[in-house]
Amino acid sequence: MRYDLPALKARLKGIHIEDNPALLRQKSRDFYWYSPTLKRQLDGVIGDLLAAPASEEEVLRILAACFALGIPVTPRGAGTGNYGQAMPLAGGLVLDLSRLDKVLEIAPGRVRAQAGALLADIDAACAPSGQELRLHPSTYRTASIGGFIAGGSGGVGSISWGGLRDLGNILSLRIATMEASPQILTLSGEEVQKIAHAYGTNGIILDVEMPLAAAYDWTEAMIGFTDFAEAAAYAQALGEQDAILKKLVSVIAAPIPQTAFLRHRRFLPEGMHVVLVMLAPMGSAAFESFTARRGGTMLFRSDLLAEADRHGLPPLYELAWNHTTLRALRVDPAITYLQTLYPHPDPLARVARIHSRLGDEVPAHLEFVRFDGRITCFGLPLVHYTSEARLDAIIALHEELGIPVFNPHRYTLEEGGMKQTDPAQLAFKREADPKGLLNPGKMIAWENPEFDFATGRTYLFPGLEGRD
Ligand code: FAD
Repeated sequence: MRYDLPALKARLKGIHIEDNPALLRQKSRDFYWYSPTLKRQLDGVIGDLLAAPASEEEVLRILAACFALGIPVTPRGAGTGNYGQAMPLAGGLVLDLSRLDKVLEIAPGRVRAQAGALLADIDAACAPSGQELRLHPSTYRTASIGGFIAGGSGGVGSISWGGLRDLGNILSLRIATMEASPQILTLSGEEVQKIAHAYGTNGIILDVEMPLAAAYDWTEAMIGFTDFAEAAAYAQALGEQDAILKKLVSVIAAPIPQTAFLRHRRFLPEGMHVVLVMLAPMGSAAFESFTARRGGTMLFRSDLLAEADRHGLPPLYELAWNHTTLRALRVDPAITYLQTLYPHPDPLARVARIHSRLGDEVPAHLEFVRFDGRITCFGLPLVHYTSEARLDAIIALHEELGIPVFNPHRYTLEEGGMKQTDPAQLAFKREADPKGLLNPGKMIAWENPEFDFATGRTYLFPGLEGRD
């Protein structure tokens, strides 16, 4: 046995633990299978024990016990990450934080909640104050706030507020370190970036303080265009209409909406490229005028539908961001995706250039966001998958055209989201996790400082060698 589990169990007396293999397997997984590459690499990954603390004191006891016994700890919120972030590559303990789910304090402009609280539950608690979270992933109904901060980046709301990377979108974090006597630290300002999007490799988030915005009963709309470039230009221009308050502006190329958005299909004529919009209801008339000016066809408006016609429709944000991929995958399992950014100058020219080169093999999907004060778009293009070599060639073509790819087919921080080692996160890991026990295998700079990115080689965690 790799680890002294009997000794660990003895130290965790009174804390909820699980070693049922079926449950452990389920709780050792996330949505890594979106990627054929990660599916091949990570399918066999499984933790040795799960612990689900019900209080902060229990978290600290678990960390101290694992530290003493040299057992790795992989934190887990709801397990909806896409790149195996919450998968325990070295086995050990899965730290299930879903029972730390309380909303602790609501005040004008801010909320404090425990890490395991679900995003939708936080908003439900804030609703009586007329407030809601500024941004959330499309997994709003299932994901935790701690997992969003440690593993996500932005999503619904980013068209007005930017992403989690932007100072001010996370107010403060209380975290526990992985030491003989775990400490509790409060981080704010620049400091939160040490932990944000670090995949739980350098601290356990206990609770978070997030900014709030005014809550609305958001109107959902779908606008059709026969020309994709016109749809993208409309979305960019709508994003730039500062006086029309929006929460979502997405563009999805035909035929994906018609084939994948099964419940909305009756609203979607063949051949139309579709723009998804969530807007604050007081802007409806302005939005109608803006859409008419740009020649868009209004295909769907949630506020104009009879109650009976709305029945059974998923919320619009569950057609957007990575839910677009999920819906397309359900219809065609050979589909996978990329994550790209079309930077200024002229993001739409970059979109046009890459999609004219790749054609039907890579249907376009754009998500518009406010990025450093300007509207631009991320891409979550779908890929009709044939082989890993072809996928790499498609990525290389994007990079050649000046379109950065945040590779969702890699499980490490550096190769996926960040492209290079974040020195602040690495330095903080040295302090907060001196034995390197938190989520091993996800930070290359820690595992193998000699790793040479210039070779283009994929990093494979030693614990996974032999499985590949
Ligand atoms: P988990 O998957 O459980 O964990 C994510 C990472 O955080 C892991 O590395 C884990 O170890 C770490 N972690 C979890 N809790 C803690 C903690 N308390 N302390 C320290 N580390 C912790 N993401 C977006 O950003 N935007 C989107 O729009 C979006 N859409 C998605 C759509 C679909 C259909 C799917 C499957 C995924 C999508 N995601 C998106 C990815 C993911 O759903 C979100 O990032 C989500 O917020 C993750 O939350 P979780 O609770 O499931 O985290």
